[in-house]
Formats: sequence, C-alpha cells, structure tokens
Amino acid sequence: MRDYEGRDGIMQFGGMSVTDIAEEFGTPVYVTDEARLRENYRSIYGEFSKYMDTKIHYACKANTNLAILRILEQEGSGIDAVSIGEVMSCLKAGFTPDRIMYTGVNVSNEELKAVSDLGVMINVDSASELERLAKINSDLPISFRITPGVGSGHSDKVITGAKGSKFGIPEKDIIKTYLRAKELGFDIKGIHAHIGSGGLVSEPFTDVMEVLIRTTNELKDNGIDLEFIDMGGGIGVPYRPNELEMDVGELAMSLTDMVLEETDVKTLILEPGRYIICDTTVLLTKCIDVKDAGVKKYVGVDAGFNTLVRPAMYDSYHHVAIGNKFGKACTAKYDVVGPICESGDYLAHDRALPDPEEGDIVVVYNTGAYGFSMSSNYNSRPLCREVLVNGGKAELIRDSELIEEQWRHQRIPERLIG
Ligand SMILES: *Cc1c(COP(=O)(O)O)cnc(C)c1O
Repeated sequence: MRDYEGRDGIMQFGGMSVTDIAEEFGTPVYVTDEARLRENYRSIYGEFSKYMDTKIHYACKANTNLAILRILEQEGSGIDAVSIGEVMSCLKAGFTPDRIMYTGVNVSNEELKAVSDLGVMINVDSASELERLAKINSDLPISFRITPGVGSGHSDKVITGAKGSKFGIPEKDIIKTYLRAKELGFDIKGIHAHIGSGGLVSEPFTDVMEVLIRTTNELKDNGIDLEFIDMGGGIGVPYRPNELEMDVGELAMSLTDMVLEETDVKTLILEPGRYIICDTTVLLTKCIDVKDAGVKKYVGVDAGFNTLVRPAMYDSYHHVAIGNKFGKACTAKYDVVGPICESGDYLAHDRALPDPEEGDIVVVYNTGAYGFSMSSNYNSRPLCREVLVNGGKAELIRDSELIEEQWRHQRIPERLIG
C-alpha cells in the first residue's frame, strides 16, 4: 500500500499538511494529488506501449470530476464510459468523441441514439442491443462485449465476466452475433471483455486474454478481421499496509506477447479505472466524538457511507490514520463510524489508533476510485467538496452542495399546501 511522509507528526499529502487542507476547505473532503494521477497514467501506458500500440481508456465511473478528466485528457488518455451522463461529462471536459468508447448494459433505445448521434463508438452488449441499434443507425463502427467465462474481483458484487453474467454476449452466441452485425452493415472494429474489478493476481487477465485471442481467431476464420482487442479494466491496487502492488510491467509483457504472437490484431485497449485514480486521493474527515461502549470503542467522524460507501457496501478495507498524530504510538483499537443512522455505517473496523480525540483529522486512504462517484445524499446530507493538490497548492474542484439544492427537483402538489 502507498503510504505518506509525516512532518512534526503531521501527515503530508501532495506537499501540504493534511491539517491545513482540512482547515481551509472543511471536512469531509476528498483530496487528489495531481502529480500522482499523471504518474499512474504514464506508468500503465508506458508499460504496455513499449511492446505494442496501446490505448488506455480510463474507466471514468471510478471518478468523473471534470478537473480529473481534464488532467487525463491532457495526458492523452481515452475514455470508457458506461452512461450518456459519463459521455457528456467527458465531452464537457474536452475529450473528442473518437477518444470515447461507450460500454453500456441494458441500454435503452434513447440512449443508443444519443450516444451514436454524438459520434461515440458503441461496444454492444447483446443481440437485442445490436438489432435495436441497427434500426437507429447501422452505419457505425462497433465492437462487442463478450462474456468470457472468467471472473475476478474484490467482492462478488463486482465480478462481471463469469459464465452466466448479465454482461456481454454469451459464448455460444458470439460468432453468430458478429456475423449478424456484418449482415446488417456495421463496421466491426473489435472485441471486448471485462472480468471485474480489483484483482491483484495476473491469472484472470491472462485467462481472459486467451479467450479473447481464441475468439478473435475464430472470427477471422469466419471472415471477420478485428482491429483491436479490448481487455477491459480490473487491475487492483493494494489497500492494506502489507499488501503489494501487482507487477504491471510483467503483466504487460505477457499479455502483449500473447496478442502479438497469436493474432494479427495491431491495437490493444485497456480500461483501467481503479489503477489510475485510486491511490491519488484521500478522504479527510474530522473526529467529532469518541465513545467507549464497553465492549467496543468508537471514533465518530463526519463522513459516513453517504460519503464513502465501499466499506458498508462491499466490506472493503480502507486504511485509516490520524493525520495530526501521524506515526504516533497506537493506544487502543477503535471502529471508525459516521453520522448515518444505520449500524452498518462504518469506515473501518478494529483499527489501532493513537489516542483519538475530538477535532483530530482522520485520513482514509485510497479513496480516489468509487469514492465520491458512489456518494449519496442519504440522510439528506449534502455531497462533499473535492480538492486538487499540486506541488504544495490546493484548489477547489467541487464545492459542497447546499441543503436547499436537495429540494430543487421536488414538487409539493398545490392541494397539499396551506
Ligand atoms: C468498471 C469498468 C472498468 C474499470 O474497472 P476498474 O476495476 O476500475 O479498473 C472497465 N471497463 C468496464 C466496461 C467497466 O464497467
């Protein structure tokens, strides 16, 4: 896991004291390190592109802040978008449509039309979607998402590639669906699979590549030549202190070797979300209350599962530290819990912490991916701020919501007034 430096007992992030950031912007607040973001993009692009033509399509559902999208646009990234909202956010951030690929599931005709009208390539998920798209426009470049029968992920909820999954074309229908697309006049560009999210071992990635290569060659035998193989995302990052990073260099070497040796395909596409954004961001939350409940001790903070849902939803581990007592000796174990009125509202269980007190700044690590983007207004709490740190300077990249804004789209029928 990536850790940070302390200075006089205060954790430093992007050249700043976390206490200064918390004081200036309030809490809870997500803080992203721009240098790290650029570094992560360059590292994965560099590892793969030294062997073959590679396109990185950042899976933006991990984090769609416009400033973050701008940075990745500057770096030369492409985009994997899963909704019309994500497509429009990326266009707003300066991506041209040809750099975006749309991979939806259970996509409505309205959305198919909107996405294709914008000139964004569609990665078709089913035979039904293909027929419906053909009625809208069959003069489009497309690819297909297949169900590879290989799954991987940090939780059952995020495994997408296993046999019987709701995602993709089932194996028995793949060739037939491609042939049908050819008959309908589509310009067929590639093949795609996504196994799931958060894997730290290489086997599922080489397994899915084997399936993609086998299918690509079968398609070739059926007269369909593909330009690219898109192996989706899912590369994990270490969340626990002693967990090690995956060797992406080695993964790049073996996967590109397979493609170059066994196919005529010239371009490899990857869709990393978590790998690019996860460890660029911490969540700063303030200790409001410390409670000794006898059998358990609690650190009550101002961020709950409305702000970071991963622990409550997936039982995910996020490392926590007290930013203003950084490196100090731990005194006891605590659960770190939020202000939401549910007992499942927690950020961390049983963590040794250094004498937590009201006013301390609790730092939650690795919150860049599926952190803010999954936050909600539950308990009528406003969405929080986001800040970008770059070389010792901090800038606001999202203001917090006003409570009043939650009423914006609600209507009380006239007859209920007065
Ligand atoms: C979510 C998703 C990704 C990214 O997954 P990560 O684990 O964040 O890398 C890539 N491709 C598709 C189609 C996705 O739905």
